[in-house]
Parts: sequence; C-alpha cells; structure tokens
Amino acid sequence: MKITRLMTAIVCLCLAISAKAQSDYFFPQEARFDPKIPSPEKYLGYEIGTLHTRHDAIVGYMRELARLSNRAKLDTIGETYEHRQLVVLTVTTPENLNNLEEIRQEHLKLVDPTADNGDLNAQKSIVLLGYNVHGNEPSSSEAAMLTAYYYVAGLHAEVTNALEEGVIMIDPAFNPDGRDRHSTWANTYKGDPMVSDPVDAEHNEMWPRGRTNHYWYDLNRDWLPLAHVESQARIEFYHKWYPNVVTDFHEMGTNSTYFFEPTKPYGSENPVVPRDNYDGLNNLFAEYFHEALDEIGSLYFTKEAYDNSYPGYGSTYPDIHGALGLVFEQASSRGHIQDSDMGKVAFAFTIKNHLTSSLATVRAAVGEKPTLLNHMSNYFETAVDEGNQAGGGWVFGDQADDTRNQAFLDLLLRHRIKTYALDESISLGGKQFEAGNAFYVPNGQKQYRMVRTMFEQVTQFHDSIFYDASSWTAALTYNMPYERYAGKAGLNGAELTFDDLTSGYESVPNARYAYLIEWDEYYAPKALNYLLERGLYVNSAFKEFSLETHEGVKEFSYGTLMIPVARQEVDADLVHAFVEEATDLAGIKAYAANTGYSTTGIDLGSRNFRTIRQPKALMVIGGSTSSYEAGEVWHLLDSKVGMPITKVWEDNLGRVDWSKYNTLVLVSGYYGSLGENTINRIKQWVREGGTVITIRNATSWAVSSKFVNEEFADRPEFDNPDRMDYVTAGDVRGSTAIGGSMYMADIDITHPLGFGYTRRDLPVYRNHSIFLKPSKDPFSTVVKYTENPLLSGYVKQQNLEKLGGTASLIVSGIGRGNVIMFADNPNFRGMWYGTNKLFLNALFFGNLF
Ligand SMILES: [Zn+2]
Repeated sequence: MKITRLMTAIVCLCLAISAKAQSDYFFPQEARFDPKIPSPEKYLGYEIGTLHTRHDAIVGYMRELARLSNRAKLDTIGETYEHRQLVVLTVTTPENLNNLEEIRQEHLKLVDPTADNGDLNAQKSIVLLGYNVHGNEPSSSEAAMLTAYYYVAGLHAEVTNALEEGVIMIDPAFNPDGRDRHSTWANTYKGDPMVSDPVDAEHNEMWPRGRTNHYWYDLNRDWLPLAHVESQARIEFYHKWYPNVVTDFHEMGTNSTYFFEPTKPYGSENPVVPRDNYDGLNNLFAEYFHEALDEIGSLYFTKEAYDNSYPGYGSTYPDIHGALGLVFEQASSRGHIQDSDMGKVAFAFTIKNHLTSSLATVRAAVGEKPTLLNHMSNYFETAVDEGNQAGGGWVFGDQADDTRNQAFLDLLLRHRIKTYALDESISLGGKQFEAGNAFYVPNGQKQYRMVRTMFEQVTQFHDSIFYDASSWTAALTYNMPYERYAGKAGLNGAELTFDDLTSGYESVPNARYAYLIEWDEYYAPKALNYLLERGLYVNSAFKEFSLETHEGVKEFSYGTLMIPVARQEVDADLVHAFVEEATDLAGIKAYAANTGYSTTGIDLGSRNFRTIRQPKALMVIGGSTSSYEAGEVWHLLDSKVGMPITKVWEDNLGRVDWSKYNTLVLVSGYYGSLGENTINRIKQWVREGGTVITIRNATSWAVSSKFVNEEFADRPEFDNPDRMDYVTAGDVRGSTAIGGSMYMADIDITHPLGFGYTRRDLPVYRNHSIFLKPSKDPFSTVVKYTENPLLSGYVKQQNLEKLGGTASLIVSGIGRGNVIMFADNPNFRGMWYGTNKLFLNALFFGNLF
C-alpha cells in the first residue's frame, strides 16, 4: 500500500513536472492556469509537438473545453466532404457568453451605416483566430489548442482582461480533410529516434499532399469563388459575425524564419481596400507582433514578400469587410524535426511561434479595440459614400442561360451583395438585357468594394510581380454579359434573396415524336449524363432548326439534345419519365415535339443530328501531374455533371485495358516519362477513335513531343541589356511572367466544342507562357485570342503583343480519334463557369466530328 502510494506520488510528480515544463516552454512566464481544465497534453496523452494531432482529437479537445468551462462554447458550422466537422470555439467571460446574441446585434451596428453605433466602449472586439487552411502546414492547429487552453484556463490578468473586452473565436482547422491527410503521413513515417534528414519519407509526402482539400483545391484561394463546402460554411459564419480581426496561419520553406504583416507595400495590396488598413492598422499590429517575437528571440521578416491582393485569400477577404486580415508564415519542420541551414527546426518550435502570434493578435485586438471598431464603422460608411458618389451600378444577365445566371446570383448573395431583378428590359452598351434575365447591382451599398471586386476590370498596377492572380473579375469568369449603368438614379426591381433562386425546371408533357433540350443551359450536361446512364439514345444538333413544340414554334441552336421517343430500348412512358427526371435534376426544361418535320432548318431525322456516346473517362494522376488541375476536373464532374471518372496513377497506366475507355484526360504534367510503349499504345487507341483532352502543360507536351502535328507560336523577346545588377534579377524576371490575367477570345459557336455558347466573345484565363499557333486545319481552332485581348490583370507589353491571334483551344485529328488541346485551363479554381463548359463539350462531343 505504502509503495503504491509512493509510486503514485512519483508518477504524479513526473506528470506535473512535464506539464509544467511544457507550459514553461510554450506560454509566457506570468501565465497561471485553472487546474480543473486539462491542458492539450493532458487530454491527448502526449506532449504538443511530439505527434501530429488528428482532427477528431482537436475537435474532441475543443468540445471538452466547452463542456468543462463556462467561458467557452463550441459551434459546428459545417462539415467537409469527408464528414469532418468544421467547428468554432467561442471564448469570453461567462457573462458575455450569456449575452452573446446581444453582443452580436450591437456589433452588427458597425456594419450597418444607417444604424447608430451606440456606446463603443461597451462593445467587444471580435477576433476570429483561423488556423491550418493548408493541411500540410500543421503547426497552427496545434497552436490553436494551446491558444484555446490559454484563454479557457488562464487565470492571470491578461486573460481576464482579454475576455472582458473581447470575444475570441477559434477555428482550429480551416481544412480538416487536408490536415488529416498530412498528419497521418507525418505520424506514419515518424521514427524513434526521429530522423531530421530532409530526404527522409516523413518530410516528403506523396501526391497530392495535404495542402489542399478533398478535391485537391487550395482553400486559401476559395474565399472569393466559394467552390467548396468548407468555404461556403465559413463565409456564412463570417457574415453572421463580421469579426474585427482575422488570422490565417501558414508555413513556408524550412530554411526561412517567420513572417508577419505588413506585406509588400502597394504591390501586394488590394486596390479597393482603404489605405488606413495598410498604413494604420497593419503597422499598429506589427508593434505587438515584433515585441512578442523579440521576447522569445525568434527571427522574422516583414514587408518583403507575400501577396495580400487576391480577395480569395483568408487574409485579404477580411480587409474588404472592414476587418484586419493577417497572414503569418512559419518556417516548416514538415514532419517532427528537420535539418535546416541554421540547425534543426522542431515541430514544437514552429507551434510556439504561431502560439506567440495568436496571443499577440488577441492582445492587439483588445488593446486597439476603439481603433478597430471605428475602422469597421468608417469602412462601411465610406463604402456607401463612395458607392453613392460613383452612382448607378452594374446591369448583367445571360439571355439564354438561366442556370449560369442563377449560379452567379448565388455567388453575389453569398457575399451579401444587394442584387435586384429588373422590372423592365434595358439596352446598354449595345447589349440588350431582357426583364426576367436582367439583374442590377447598385454601387450605393455597404458591399460597394465587393461590387467592384465582382465587376471592375483592372489594368493599371503599382507593381509587375504577382505571387498569384492579378485579376479576379468574377463577372468575366462566369462569361456574364454585363455593362456599367451610369445613371445617377437607381433602376427599379425587386431585391433578390436565396428563395428567389429557383430551378428553371418545368414538367414536360408526353411527346409522341421526340424531346428537345437546349444545350445553352449550364446544367444541360448533367441532364445529358443522366439520360446516357439510363441507356437512352441522345443526339446532338449540328445545325440550327425551328420546330413546333408544346410551347409553339421554337428556334433551337447548335448542340440541342434530341431524344427520339420510338427509337429507344425502353417504352415511351419510361422515356418521358427519364426526361422529366433528368431535367428536374439539372433544373432546366425540355420541349415535347409531336413531329420531326421542322419549320426551318434540319428535320429531326437529319444526318446533322449525331448520336452521343456515353463518356468512359480516365484521368492520369500522380507523378508529375498537377493535382490542382486534376482536382478541378474531378470536382467539375462530381458536382456539375454527376459523372464518375477513373483516376489512374501515372505508373499504373501500363495496366490499363484501353478498350474500356473512350476519353483520356491529361492535365498539366510531363508525360515524356510515360515511356514509348505506353505513349504508342495511347496513340493507337486514339487512331481507333479515342479522345484525348490535354490541358496547359499537357498541351505543350503533345505539341513538343510531336504527339500531334501542331506548332507553337512565336514567343516574345525581351530586349534586356547584356548586364544588369544582381539585386534587380527577381523583379526583372518576375515581370515577364504571365501570372494570372483575363483575355478576350473568339469562339467558333458552330463547332461541336463551342456548342451551347450563344455569343462569339469568350473571356479566358491565362497563367502560363504557352503560345499556341492556330491549328493547321482552318476548321479546328475553336477558341482564338483576339488581336488586342487584354481584359483585366497585369501583362507585359511584349507578352501581350505576341498573345493576340494565338490559339486557346484547338483540336487535332489522329485516325478516327481527336486530341483536344486547351492552352488555357478551362476549369480554373472552379470559378470559370464561362469556360468549363468547353471541357464538358470536349467530354461529350469529342468524337462526334
Ligand atoms: Zn500556406
């Protein structure tokens, strides 16, 4: 008994020492903690920094804090594709927690320029600490647990003051699926003793790595496009609260140190954000950060790097919402410990730096509360003033494509941009906007700066180096016809809500002869895929026609789907049921025809209707291929079509039974490494009727390897002097790159790959230097750059001059098959609703010509 008690005492002492040692390592000296609240170490059973914590354990710890403490509550705001919970732990005093809804209502007055702000002293500073958007930058979620512990269990004055004055919201993992992918990897390969050698497996994850989400998307680009469930949930929560300060924690190369804002002045700042954000708030906060990092002796840098311009970043979106968004970058240990030029970088050390910045952020948010609250109030007041001064607004709407209109409206509403359905038709800038398909976004609204983000084209820049995109005009990405309305008075219409975004589906009566579905609807491919999966014969119109339908005589354009009633394997009732289900699923309508005899153009039995084969698609992944582009294809087919695609590892291609597939997707990659046998096998399969779709670098490979008989266009020459100062090298080289800008192209809408487009103008996105010559066959250049194509974004003059007249999309025949080559990525970031239809055309119509 005695011995047992002695043993217990010794064990307890050891635990206490280790717990104390750990909190000494991570926390400031004056920290005092409530012993009733478990530290992360106690809850998890291991010291923070010795293992990568699984996401469910992080959520479990947050839940435990909320269970044990009256200072904290946990909200689940959504879930990922892999059903991991997106949670936010709110920490403040018990009294504030009880009055949280009142605090929120008071706070929202800052966002509403028509409301009286009330007593700012009584208001709280709302801090959203966001972590781990890039799954393989894992230190920040560990820091999130320590931060949560610090504020939930802390008994010292700094904590009590912070909770009085602030509401601290901790979102421990923006990207749980990616985090677990990486954490599992790092834990799997962890040695005992640990291996710090940078070439060890632990430090080198397998494709697609953990940076991205389930669909291999970078969620730190998705705050604007909102292509993903994680971002959609996050933005919903964001607009519920409008926090004053938002953090976004990252990791960078192992040989670097630490970065906090300010970012690079002017060049990397967003043009619509008021100067006081950068000149005022950023510098004010930097004082807190450097003081905290000086205290622990961590090396850091500021101002030299990191982009803060693209609105889809987690550190930029808040800047466009009256808050201060903050990006932090920590040199990565990528694994548990790794060698660097300056000794070993330990996981615990990287966690400590992010923890230190987290605490400094709260300190600053509380210390500068009046400045932050005034900033937010002024932000929205000046937004309305500037918008009113600009006057008028933007009129937009596609006359043919309801489903694309709805998708764009959905995006505007998610960003809380006031939008109206126009009562009357209007003609602007030579474009006709018909009531019913005409919408209006006035400038005079508190989201005026987001309105600018959505519609303005920008071609003037402070700088010529871009970390990412230099253009993000959303209306162009949706190929949305739009015009500036300059009238001082607004236009009349009803304000839209989510409830107004209804499906265009209408029940279709039984047809005796055929059903017709227009291809100019964005979601028509979804309906087509449904019909093909049920074994129906579906034909595509290669010429225009008009015909008597259940709604009278109607004109039908290129690509219209024709489903005959009689020539099917199933009876007429089932054909009708399948058409109903398909159009309901896609949210579009079908037309019933009782005759095949057209009033103009081709009849329904014409040879100019071609029967569509069901795509059996395979995509090469792994190795040198781009996980982003592969993920974009995968997500497009899953979310917009409902069509499966087989994903094959590059080094498994030799095992493929090619007779099972008719379409091969090659995203950017270096396919020379496939070996001659595999490439010859693919070429033979194309000759027999297979379709290859190449994107960007894969197109480059197809041309340079002579897989196709096409050529590159002339590249620009930069007449730089023979000798320049070394220090200018980065700037000179950077300025010649094409970093992400938008261009006008001409699309052949009579080509099967151009079916469903109703206008020849087509904005495209370019972030590469592939200059593709128009095809040798005059009928095969489907999309071609106009002579002076720049729409929005930065491009060097020499690049622009060479770009005019080059090809964006060509097709090259080999035997009975086709190679369809995209110079530009049509699926970029899931935001290019304007061009991803081209990809679907390639998939469904790639072998029809
Ligand atoms: Zn990152």
